[in-house]
Amino acid sequence: MTSVTQSEQSRAMTTPSPSAANYPGLDEWRNRTIGQHPQWAEHPDFASTIEELNAVPPLVFAGEVDLLRERLASVAAGEAFFLQGGDCAETFAGATADKISGRVQTLLQMAVVLTYGASLPVVKMGRMAGQFSKPRSSNLETRGDQTLPTFRGEMVNGFDFNESSRVHDPNRMLRGYHTSASTLNLIRAFTTGGFADLRRVHAWNMGFAANPAYARYESMAREIDHAVKFMAACGADFDALKTTEFFAGHEALLLDYERALTRIDSRTYLPYGTSGHFLWIGERTRELDGAHVDLLSRLRNPIGVKLGPSTTGEDALRLIDALDPNREPGRLTFIIRMGAKNIREKLPAIIQAVEGSGAKPVWVTDPMHGNTVSLPSGYKTRNFDDVVDEVRGFFEVHQALGTFPGGIHVEMTGDDVAECLGGSDPVNESSFAERYETLCDPRLNHMQSLEIAFLVAEYLSK
Ligand code: PEP
Ligand code: MN
Repeated sequence: MTSVTQSEQSRAMTTPSPSAANYPGLDEWRNRTIGQHPQWAEHPDFASTIEELNAVPPLVFAGEVDLLRERLASVAAGEAFFLQGGDCAETFAGATADKISGRVQTLLQMAVVLTYGASLPVVKMGRMAGQFSKPRSSNLETRGDQTLPTFRGEMVNGFDFNESSRVHDPNRMLRGYHTSASTLNLIRAFTTGGFADLRRVHAWNMGFAANPAYARYESMAREIDHAVKFMAACGADFDALKTTEFFAGHEALLLDYERALTRIDSRTYLPYGTSGHFLWIGERTRELDGAHVDLLSRLRNPIGVKLGPSTTGEDALRLIDALDPNREPGRLTFIIRMGAKNIREKLPAIIQAVEGSGAKPVWVTDPMHGNTVSLPSGYKTRNFDDVVDEVRGFFEVHQALGTFPGGIHVEMTGDDVAECLGGSDPVNESSFAERYETLCDPRLNHMQSLEIAFLVAEYLSK
């Protein structure tokens, strides 16, 4: 992860930071409808928790956030590709060195394949170090004769189905903050300490393609191998390829948390969300006059918005006006999650309306959230073929319109879980009993994630 420059750092150390407490407009969201928000304002620890969060150090730095905006501007211009991936819902127990390194490794492996396929740099981002809260379609969950509040992510309440665990507890925001800090610390160490070495990541990918189930990707893996050997023969500086930029993003759902971690940058006197580099607004909280759009419109971070199948071109235009009134390159990313059966029909009108207005958001496909199905057994899953079909539809639409398919956003893990069905080495429902681990939506496992990267690389290289 790239850090701030030395002069910025020494300035930050000598100049007291301006306060975000009274910065105009940062509390306007409190006058708006706040969708999906926890009921915890009356909790005895609420005020002291917010006070503590107001004082903690930022998790990410304004200079890094600005760098990400520049990187995303390159994506909007068709000069880079954007990869976002990670858990649907991170867990506190899951923030171990092994699990974090597995996710980072898988993302780095995907990125190498995509870099080759696109012949472009890949902007890498984890749905990590802050993805601890979830919007839910229902406030209540009933099991047998007991009805309790739904699980909303470990930064709000517990997964266990009992009354005390499901209480909305503001103290969980502090645990979320500290878990995010240790996760980011490890990510920074991994991505700057040699773990990201191109040759090492490439060797992992050769292992993937050597598995007979994935034989169809062997030729691309071999091409990448030739490219790496060619680079070596040309005297490429592999030492420079031992580190990589890696950013962190999450859904900015808990406005109490996001507001408390808003800081005023001492260089520019502008507000930055410092809980993560990239913050996105979910499909369920993107109302134009709602609280989430309001707070995020006032932060300098690159902002994402999920767009589901009910979105019109007009909705997209109004979101641009609210979140990116100055049409700033890299500011806004639309994360499209239509479902495989809708993407080809619904996406063109949205892109046409936006392109016609002169705005240039980054277009990303999330092929997961429109393709969730519930099995009779009760498991929530996604079919790998539907995920692939939505990605393909996304590329087809962009190709037909001459616009740039800027990136992919997936729910994935580095572990060998069984949560999504199918893939070349197919996951079957019979494995769910032993290897279904997610607390929320089903994720692609390590091999399914790499397979998606190879498929996307094929589209990108056409
Ligand atoms: C998510 O990304 O986990 C999520 C809830 O997505 P969406 O807002 O698109 O439904
Ligand atoms: Mn999800």
